Amino acid sequence: MAHLEVGPITVRDLAEIMGLPVRDVVDDLEHVVRSLGPGKLHMEPATCLHCDYAFEGRRRFTRPSRCPHCRSERITWPALRIG
Ligand SMILES: [Zn+2]
Repeated sequence: MAHLEVGPITVRDLAEIMGLPVRDVVDDLEHVVRSLGPGKLHMEPATCLHCDYAFEGRRRFTRPSRCPHCRSERITWPALRIG
């Protein structure tokens, strides 16, 4: 989890570094965030590469499947940082 203090990093990259499935990393992260308390997690929202729509306020750590604005599926992963 040290990567999260250096961050920002995406769950996909964390999963790759740790050699775990994305779902396991998301589960771990939810426990970590809960134990840290509010305000410790900083999240750069997922963004649509087609229209620049930003998924502000979205709480999930995974990538949205589709942009609600232009319906593109070219969307970045949200980047996370703790500190
Ligand atoms: Zn879009």
